[in-house]
Amino acid sequence: MYRERGAGGSKTEVGPVDRKRINEALDKHLERSSPSTSRTINGKDKSAQSVLMGKHPADQRNASLSKNNGSDEESETDSEDSDVSGSEGDDTSWISWFCNLRGNEFFCEVDDDYIQDDFNLCGLSGQVPYYDYALDLILDIESSHGDMFTEEQNELVESAAEMLYGLIHARYILTSKGMAAMLDKYKSYDFGRCPRVYCCGQPCLPVGQSDVPRLSTVKIYCPRCEDIYYPRSKYQGNIDGAYFGNTFPHLFLMTYGHLKPQKPSQSYVPRVFGFKIHKP
Ligand SMILES: [Zn+2]
Repeated sequence: MYRERGAGGSKTEVGPVDRKRINEALDKHLERSSPSTSRTINGKDKSAQSVLMGKHPADQRNASLSKNNGSDEESETDSEDSDVSGSEGDDTSWISWFCNLRGNEFFCEVDDDYIQDDFNLCGLSGQVPYYDYALDLILDIESSHGDMFTEEQNELVESAAEMLYGLIHARYILTSKGMAAMLDKYKSYDFGRCPRVYCCGQPCLPVGQSDVPRLSTVKIYCPRCEDIYYPRSKYQGNIDGAYFGNTFPHLFLMTYGHLKPQKPSQSYVPRVFGFKIHKP
C-alpha cells in the first residue's frame, strides 16, 4: 500500500526537535564528498558491525547466530528486551532492540518478511543514505566485506538504519498485519491518552503531519475530539512524524470502525463568578 511520498504533506511546519543525532549524522553526510566515504564504507564486516551496534545488547551474537534467513524473528519475544542498556539479550534482533529503546514505544515491530520484499521498499533507497548497510543492519545480516568502519561511518549507518526503519514502518502500519500490530499497542494504551478532560482518558493513535521526513515530529491523535497533541514523553516527541505518516490513524479507525468513539458530549465553558462570559 503506497502513498505518494512528498505529496500532501504540510511543508510549512518544520519540527524543531527532529532527532538530533540523525540530523547531525545526515548533515555530516551531506557535507562530505561521497566518493571517499562510499569507498571506505565498503569495508563492512562482522567486526565492524559489532562496533556499529555497540549499544545493541546483542552485539556479540552475530558471531554465533545465523539470522540471515530472518525466519526466526517471530519466535522472539519482547520479554527480554526491556534491558535496553543491557549486556544480555543475545537473541534480540535489531528490530526488537530498536522498538524497545526509550522513546520508541510508538513503533511496532515490522516483520522481517515485509522488509525482505523489495517491492515494499520501493523508492526508499533514494531517500536513505547508506541504504544497503542500513538494511543489512536492520535485518541483522552480516556482510562479507572485510574492513572496519570508522566511528563516524558507524554512526551514519546507525542513523540511516533508524530512518530506514521509520520509513518502512510508516508503510507497514498501513498493511493489515501492521495495523493488527498497532491495534495491540492501542489496546495497551501505548500511544498515550488524550489530555483533554472531556475526552475522559480516550486512548490516542500516533500520527504524522507530513509523510516527508524531517518536517515535523510525531503527534498523537485523539479519535474522540479529533485533534492532535504532543506526546507526553519528550523522547517520543523527538520522533519523526513521517515514521507514522498522516494517513495511519484515520485508516486505522476506518478499518476498526467499532473503535471509533462517540464525539464528546461535553465541552468546557469558561465562567467568571459562575456566569458564562458574554461573547461580543
Ligand atoms: Zn480528545
